[in-house]
Amino acid sequence: MKLRAVKGTNDRLPADQPRWHHVIDAAARVLGRAGVQEITTPVFEFAEVFERSVGEAADLVVQKEMYTFDDRGGRRLTLRPEFTAGVLRAFVEHGMHTWPSPVKLWSHGPAFRAENVQRGRYRQFHQVNLEIVGTAAPVADAEAIALFADVLRALGLRGVRVALGSVGDPSDRAAYNAYLRDALEPHAEALSETSRERLRLNPMRVLDAKDPGDRALVAPLKRPLDFLNPESRAHFDAVAASLDAWGVPYDVDPGIVRGLDYYRRTAFEIHAEGIGAQSALGGGGRYDGLVSQLGGPDVPGIGWAFGIERVLDALIQAEVAVPAPEGPLLFLVPMDDEAVTEAAGIARELRAHARVEHAYVRRAAGKGLRDADRSGARFAGLLGARERAEGVVQVKDLASGAESRLPLRDLPDWAVAEASAAQETTATESTASDAV
Ligand code: AMP
Repeated sequence: MKLRAVKGTNDRLPADQPRWHHVIDAAARVLGRAGVQEITTPVFEFAEVFERSVGEAADLVVQKEMYTFDDRGGRRLTLRPEFTAGVLRAFVEHGMHTWPSPVKLWSHGPAFRAENVQRGRYRQFHQVNLEIVGTAAPVADAEAIALFADVLRALGLRGVRVALGSVGDPSDRAAYNAYLRDALEPHAEALSETSRERLRLNPMRVLDAKDPGDRALVAPLKRPLDFLNPESRAHFDAVAASLDAWGVPYDVDPGIVRGLDYYRRTAFEIHAEGIGAQSALGGGGRYDGLVSQLGGPDVPGIGWAFGIERVLDALIQAEVAVPAPEGPLLFLVPMDDEAVTEAAGIARELRAHARVEHAYVRRAAGKGLRDADRSGARFAGLLGARERAEGVVQVKDLASGAESRLPLRDLPDWAVAEASAAQETTATESTASDAV
């Protein structure tokens, strides 16, 4: 059998890396300025962490999607399907409720779900995740949503839609679920198997159905937003008022429900155009009660996650310029066997200042220049018998063709000057892209 990557997993090749880091760096910058600290939790946890967090009404769809296995010690472990449970497990384990409140944490990394693979839906995918733990203030919900929009804006992504809703308090949810049961049970036979299962365990999730028949059945029904008690309603209005005050655009979506059961009140999603059926870049909501469900104190929280693959897809569809891979400053070409070690040695020294590469075998000038060009270098440095005798390198600017013979001892200063000039250009470009 020819070995290949497992279905639903993807290699991230060198050419993909600048784009990828562009997204992570934007998140780090935007969230960092808001005082959000980075946390890294393990990729796998005891299965119980996720089982407790999804709760009793756990949708079997969610359960089935988890990669759970026994390790050799007989421990039941799960590859994280999302970040919140693990981050809150860490919050409890490290007593973060004693830290200055709220505790604001972000993470990024892989998550795993045994899904039906399609565009935008993979079995290993990657998320950027934010949690604000320790406050029930609606301004925190609004700030979380605004930060999400800020990250997308810093990336240059336009045409995204924030959909804001509320799933209410547990009592609102219970009332709404009872309403849905009454309305849908008489038609249970007509529902898809998934929706029938959801109607039994967590009726609200029927609203998420993709099946056209199911959608037609729920279309005329009331939405969670119609079932808010006065406090939940006031919370929703306060979140909306903050977003209005800051000029963060959003649409009210009365029918938003989140995949997991722990959400309370605020629920939201951000969608992008042009990336196909899986248009949700990310979403999140408030999860008061989840920390205590995981064995911690009763502290409220709000969070979101976005899928990095989907954001990248949206950036490509929107033709947003992302940084291209950078080549070396200098590519050294040894033109005889004696120069091979010396060229590599010069490269080693200059790397204190800039990215420098070299050919590993003797190259004729023409071929060496072609190698330098293919590496994406700005300059080629030719080193043959004559250059060695004179203690120089013949440096060629590959864009302009200008050539000069630089003494070896001047190379470090030359590299410092060229590298810092290049850095200034990049810094100006990235400030410009932040400002748009
Ligand atoms: P969720 O935790 O289901 O709300 O997912 C949050 C975001 O993660 C989604 O909006 C997607 O951008 C991304 N995401 C979730 N599941 C997948 C998947 N299987 N493949 C790729 N991205 C995903």
